[in-house]
Amino acid sequence: MLNVRLPVFFFTLLVTLGADVRNCACDVAKPETLEARECGLCKVAELQPADVFLFLLKDNNPRKPNRWLALPRAHYPGDHPLREMPLEQRTRLWTAAIGKANELWGDSWGLAINGDEQRTQCHAHIHIGKLLDNVETGNFAIVTSAAEIPLPANNTGLWVHPVLGKLHVHTGEQITESNLLR
Ligand SMILES: [Zn+2]
Ligand SMILES: [Zn+2]
Repeated sequence: MLNVRLPVFFFTLLVTLGADVRNCACDVAKPETLEARECGLCKVAELQPADVFLFLLKDNNPRKPNRWLALPRAHYPGDHPLREMPLEQRTRLWTAAIGKANELWGDSWGLAINGDEQRTQCHAHIHIGKLLDNVETGNFAIVTSAAEIPLPANNTGLWVHPVLGKLHVHTGEQITESNLLR
């Protein structure tokens, strides 16, 4: 019995430790810190031209062939919370993500930020993808522009999709990218 249970326990522990960014220590001034797995996107950001504010990246996970990401060039402390970005910068990031989403999927897109307990990368990033069918819930706010998209609250994530020319913002959830085509 022990033989079966132990590997499962350790696997669960590894997955749990890997999917949490609440102890991020990525610091570009200390390159050795960027070797941590959760700092991978910080390294990618450092490869971008110094004068860009944001960049779009095709997800390199072979299990997510349809996914893109929108990311700021800059780093923010710890888990790079969006609240560290001034509203004007956040709006630019959301606007770029919406633009790419539109280009890829017309009005069938969704954007998602996972909650801190589910994120595996410290660097701020918005997932861009096709919204899956039948994921709609009744728990959303309606906004009319990127500038009105609220900050995630209490370490949760949020997901956004267009409805009749406006935006649904779904808040208070940890796992949000599962609403998007992989
Ligand atoms: Zn970073
Ligand atoms: Zn909705």
